Amino acid sequence: MKLVDKLSQSKKPLFSIEILPPLKGKSIQSIYDAIDPLMDFKPAFVDVTYHREEYIYKKREGGYLEKVSIRKRPGTVGICAAIMNKYDVEAVPHIICGGFTREETENALIDLQFLGIDNVLALRGDSIKTEPSFVPEPGGHHYALDLVRQISDMNKGSYLDEEMKDAAPTNFCVGIAGYPEKHFEAPNMNSDMKWLKAKVDAGAEYIVTQMFFDNSKYFEFVELCKKSGINVPIIPGLKMLSTKAQIKSLPKIFKIDIPHDFYEALEKCKDDKEVKQVGIDWCIAQCKELVKANVPCLHFYTMGTSETTRRVAKEIF
Ligand code: FAD
Repeated sequence: MKLVDKLSQSKKPLFSIEILPPLKGKSIQSIYDAIDPLMDFKPAFVDVTYHREEYIYKKREGGYLEKVSIRKRPGTVGICAAIMNKYDVEAVPHIICGGFTREETENALIDLQFLGIDNVLALRGDSIKTEPSFVPEPGGHHYALDLVRQISDMNKGSYLDEEMKDAAPTNFCVGIAGYPEKHFEAPNMNSDMKWLKAKVDAGAEYIVTQMFFDNSKYFEFVELCKKSGINVPIIPGLKMLSTKAQIKSLPKIFKIDIPHDFYEALEKCKDDKEVKQVGIDWCIAQCKELVKANVPCLHFYTMGTSETTRRVAKEIF
């Protein structure tokens, strides 16, 4: 079922989660262990992230270093199929521009359609660690906008081969990412809005936000979207901060702020156990306010663990 239909049919905010494929070599059981305790809350959908290749240097005989490409977390499509089969839940694969030619994207989308996947989250992806900025694959997309356009074309039966006649249209509902605190590369919020609107005009039907800890940032973002003519559902993305190290790492990785009151409460914690409790309490307060504002869904970045999400969800759903 298309997520936009699910969202529009529900009178109250839905519950959804994002999971990561396990590290290569680990069993899919770790995914089930992360999802099982959350099934009581009937997730409307489960997003599965996509992780592209990374380059590492391996020491070889004679001391020389060989540059090797590895994918640490493969399995996005397989996990989607497995969880749809096991839990009868909508699985939403993330698909990215990075590392894919247009042809490979088309083929991947055909696989997804054949598997019965109705929803995809279309993203650009970040640059790989060895590149200073994002470099598309030769023959691949530079921006998520181009990926959304390709999927919309396929939804109209228009594939890359213009000579192909009577091609079966795909039927994907396309989600995209939005940034209440601005995407880090965007020169300003207005330009980020302009491209967000372009993605919606190209056929994206809902937005999932980057995590935020200050609800006012989300509310301002929603207002700005409305003013910019963006009228699709905007799903808030939430994360429970749970270790002292994350006070520094989350702003660095995700380019987001930790509100000062929250920071002060976290700083007073003696250990990670206390941080986890403060993080859960903060997230519960965020969720209560978001539910009052009648957001379409609360989307939790589980990062592969269910305990904190479960403790928050128990208070909300
Ligand atoms: P885009 O929409 O392409 O935007 C990138 C930047 O370019 C922005 O600054 C935008 O303002 C600007 N821009 C956009 N279009 C144009 C244009 N046509 N011309 C000029 N400028 C333009 N990454 C992964 O690798 N795997 C994942 O599974 C994954 N999941 C994510 C889930 C969510 C909910 C979010 C919020 C992010 C996720 N990411 C993931 C990270 C994401 O790939 C990065 O944030 C990436 O840097 C930007 O992706 P985007 O789709 O927003 O890019």
